[in-house]
Amino acid sequence: MNIHEYQAKALLAGFGVAVPRGGVAYTAPEAEQVAKDLAKEMQGDPAKEPVWVVKAQIHAGGRGKGGGVKIVKSIDDVLDTAGQILGMQLITHQTGPDGKEVKRVYIEEGCDIARELYLSMLIDRASSRVTIMASTEGGMDIEEVAAKTPEKIIMEVIDPAIGIQGFNARNIAFGLGLEGKQVASAVKLIMGIYKAFNALDASLVEINPLVVTGAGDVMALDAKMNFDDSALFRQKDISELRDEDEEDPAELEAARHELNYIKLDGNIGCMVNGAGLAMSTMDIIKLNGGDPANFLDVGGGATKERVTTAFKLILSDPNVKGILVNIFGGIMRCDVIAEGVVAAAKEVSIDIPLVVRLEGTNVDLGKEILSQSGLEIVSADDLGDAAEKVVAAVREAG
Ligand code: ADP
Ligand code: MG
Repeated sequence: MNIHEYQAKALLAGFGVAVPRGGVAYTAPEAEQVAKDLAKEMQGDPAKEPVWVVKAQIHAGGRGKGGGVKIVKSIDDVLDTAGQILGMQLITHQTGPDGKEVKRVYIEEGCDIARELYLSMLIDRASSRVTIMASTEGGMDIEEVAAKTPEKIIMEVIDPAIGIQGFNARNIAFGLGLEGKQVASAVKLIMGIYKAFNALDASLVEINPLVVTGAGDVMALDAKMNFDDSALFRQKDISELRDEDEEDPAELEAARHELNYIKLDGNIGCMVNGAGLAMSTMDIIKLNGGDPANFLDVGGGATKERVTTAFKLILSDPNVKGILVNIFGGIMRCDVIAEGVVAAAKEVSIDIPLVVRLEGTNVDLGKEILSQSGLEIVSADDLGDAAEKVVAAVREAG
């Protein structure tokens, strides 16, 4: 699960991570009020000329380049800029060509940036450990830095038995070329991020940029956090931060029915029981020259209701030009599944080619139910046959 920048900053601040002051707004007048409140707090600091930053809150990076981060110098400009950004369709390299509608903005105090660095914490699957990644090349596309100049990325692997130690954080700080009081400031921030990462079951924390201010403080100017979905049951406060506007509607609907559905770019809808079988079904469609439109695991207890929901989800994707149902009746019986498929197919009226491959307990009975259903179902004998048939049918229809 992902959350917004302002939510991540609030969580991290709770663990002692330095972030600029700010507040979220859903309308331009709210943004103006936040800016006024911030101005009062900024007045305490005579060295600062008041500067506000208006930041679009969407679950995607690259907002700055896309026009979703604006620096302004008056409260009137906060009002105008918030009005422009709210409701805009913000396109960044992470949103896809359609962009995302901005429904919230974050108003933050401007920061006097001396250096922009990169810092992230993630679980490295190779070592199975929390790993800190840092680079002096902040603010840039970190994937590009990793590809072109891998020597500019510093890594620090944390031993889970003892947790993060001061030296781990200092290795990062020195690797980033920090000096004097910047080191202590960075160590505090890194230790805080590690504590938040562990306590909140995060899977990624990315600070890009991590900045050194003119005064020598180190703070998080951007913050991205992802959480382990499997741990959300024990992270009620985190679950409440979910913003359903930012998620794919079909994937949300699937989650409500405990279906594992992930939309893909192809045109062959797949309905399969078991994640492993779903993966091999997608592979074999590819092998036959087709493209899967989704990953869908209907799970072990594929009831008629679930199968129907699954069909509806697959058909809600306008790219789908054919469907392959591939079910292995192990615990489930094939006749029960066949009845579910027939009932679902009738209910949602499928007018594209439907190929069904059943195998396992009561397979003959299952096939008989399909052939007597009056539906135009192409029956397949094995996975290879099924994939060939659905790819051919979609080609003919197209
Ligand atoms: P994104 O990564 O989505 O583009 P960021 O939060 O990283 O969004 O902002 C983009 C850039 O805008 C930063 O690299 C920084 O230069 C500038 N910026 C962001 N927040 C502030 C701030 N509070 N004060 C000054 N500059 C900022
Ligand atoms: Mg950023």
